[in-house]
Amino acid sequence: MRILEETKTVSLTIDGKEIKAAKTEKILWAALDNDVYIPNLCAIREKNEPFASCRLCFVEVKGREMPVTACTEPVAEGMVVNTKGEKALRLARIAFELLLASLPVDCAHCSKSGSCELQKIAKHLRAKLSTKRFRKTLRGLPIDSSSPLFIYDPNKCVLCGRCVWVCQKKLSIAAIGFAYRGFRRMVTTFGDEPIGQSRCQGCGECVDVCPVGALVFKREN
Ligand code: SF4
Ligand code: SF4
Repeated sequence: MRILEETKTVSLTIDGKEIKAAKTEKILWAALDNDVYIPNLCAIREKNEPFASCRLCFVEVKGREMPVTACTEPVAEGMVVNTKGEKALRLARIAFELLLASLPVDCAHCSKSGSCELQKIAKHLRAKLSTKRFRKTLRGLPIDSSSPLFIYDPNKCVLCGRCVWVCQKKLSIAAIGFAYRGFRRMVTTFGDEPIGQSRCQGCGECVDVCPVGALVFKREN
């Protein structure tokens, strides 16, 4: 009976495109599966409870007064979703600018340029990779090159949590995790030791999921 429930699908419209999705699916994944891009940084499909921390995936749903986050909102039969509504885009642009206020942006000297999610989001939102609304405050943290495989630049980290989830929950290695609060919040190892001297096993899975230039393979540099 439960299996039957979970395999049921619903029909909905996203940006005028009629699609079908599993009734338990969230709008974000239903859209991405059907080639409708919605900006996102912290979303992990395998994670049941979304982080919903990047606040970039706002969409408008017909009949709802305020935009909703697509990573948390389940699809529903007959739902009409608009990913391009001005209210949703405005909220996403504010979140994006807030993020950029603490990030150094130097695409010309970044090996992630061309495949960086920030560039994709900026293009989608028709926004610049800079902020006028918020004061720029950079953290000036040291870069960790101690791993033989990859480089970790915490200054470029958008705190999406993908690397932490992979290392802790998927691989059960837990070489990295979040530390500190507020502006000081960062991904680091236990005791802040260099990654190369931590329990990191050099699998590189964290690098694979990093959407920006914070974790990059040395061979790519
Ligand atoms: S390389 Fe593997 S073990 Fe090391 S921090 Fe990344 S995910 Fe964890
Ligand atoms: S290092 Fe990359 S994957 Fe990890 S939290 Fe920062 S931006 Fe996300």
